Amino acid sequence: MRDIPIFNTFIHPSAQSRVDSVLSSTFLSEGKLVKEFESKLNSDLGFVNPLALNSGTSALHLAVVLAGVKPGDEVICPAQTFVATALVICQEKAIPVFADIKYEDGNIDPKSIEEKVTSKTKAIIAVHWGGNPCDMDEIHAIAKRYNLVVIEDAAHAPGATYKSRPVGSISDFTCFSFQAIKHITTGDGGAICCKDDKVAMEALKRRWFGINRANSPLSILGERIYDITDVGYKYHLNDYGAALGLANLEGFKDRLAYRRKLVQIYRQELSQVSGLNLFKESNDRESAHWLFGFHVEKREEFILTLKSKGIAASVVHDGIDHNSLFGGTRQDLVNQLRFNETQIHIPIHDGMNEEDVEYIVNCIKQGW
Ligand SMILES: *Cc1c(COP(=O)(O)O)cnc(C)c1O
Repeated sequence: MRDIPIFNTFIHPSAQSRVDSVLSSTFLSEGKLVKEFESKLNSDLGFVNPLALNSGTSALHLAVVLAGVKPGDEVICPAQTFVATALVICQEKAIPVFADIKYEDGNIDPKSIEEKVTSKTKAIIAVHWGGNPCDMDEIHAIAKRYNLVVIEDAAHAPGATYKSRPVGSISDFTCFSFQAIKHITTGDGGAICCKDDKVAMEALKRRWFGINRANSPLSILGERIYDITDVGYKYHLNDYGAALGLANLEGFKDRLAYRRKLVQIYRQELSQVSGLNLFKESNDRESAHWLFGFHVEKREEFILTLKSKGIAASVVHDGIDHNSLFGGTRQDLVNQLRFNETQIHIPIHDGMNEEDVEYIVNCIKQGW
C-alpha cells in the first residue's frame, strides 16, 4: 500500500558534498557561505536585504523588536498560524490581539484588523496561510491610516508573489523559515527581510549580540573593539546550514513550478466533488503552495478513510488563541471557529509525483 506523508524534507543531491566541505574546512560558524546564501535569496527569490538567521521564530522576534514593539503594546495577528507568530509578541511583553480570518482561505481579514486597532496597536503580523499571500494592499492601507508597522510571517511563502511582486519585498519586515519541512531547509534556519536599508543594518547588528561585526575596529592586539548599546541576540545562521540552503536553492523555481502543476491537477479534479470546498485563490497573487487545503464535511471520516488508504490528511494548525498563554478561545472570531471545524490539508510536496496525486484524487472521489 502507498504511504504518502503530509510533508517531506527536501535535500538536494548536491547537499551532502557541500556540507561535507564545510565540515572539512572546520569553519563552521557564520562566514562566506551565509553571505552567498543571502545574495542568492536576493537574486533568485527577490528577497530584499535578506539576513539569514537560525530560525523563522528568530526572524519574527527580531522583526517585532525592530518594529519598536514595547511592553504593553498590542500587535494584531491571526490565530490561524503556528504559535511562534504570537509567542514572539509575548517575548517583548506585548499583547497579541487576534483578528479574524477569512473563512475562504484562512488568511487574516483586513476588515477585522481595522476593528481591532486601538491606541496601543503598534504592528500587524500577516501570515500567508499555506503560502497564499494575504490582502497586502488592504493591510498596508490600514497600516498607513493608523501608523502601524507591517510584518509578514512568510514561513509558508518563499517564491510567492502578490501583484507580481515577490513576497520578501513588500512590507517593512518579511520573515521566512528554513525549518526541516519548509520549502527550503537549512536544518533549522530562517531569514528576515527589512525593506529599509538602515533598519537592515540594525538587524545585522542585532543578530550578532548587537555588535557591529563589519565595522568595529580591531585593537593592536587584534581584539575587536565594540560597545553594546542595544540588546542583541545570537540569531545568525552558520555556514553548514547555509551550505545546505545553497544546495536546496538549486532548481527551486522548478520545484515550485512542479508543485503548481500538482495543485492544478488537484484543483481541476476536486472542484466538483461534493462535500468538499477548495480554499479560494485569487488571480492577482501566486501561492507558494506549502499546503493544499479545503473545507470538508464529515472531517473525521474523511481523515480516517484517507488514512486507511495510506494517505495523510491533516489540520496542520487550528486557531492558536485557545492556548492559556494567549488567553483562551476567542468567541468573537466567528470565521476562525468555523474554520477550525472544517479545514483539512492533503499532501503536496517534493516527494510526490503525478501518480500519487491521481491516486489521492481517486480515493477522495470514491467518497468518505
Ligand atoms: C514554521 C513556522 C514558523 C517558525 O519557524 P521556525 O523556523 O520553526 O522557527 C513561524 N510561523 C509559521 C506560520 C510557521 O509555519
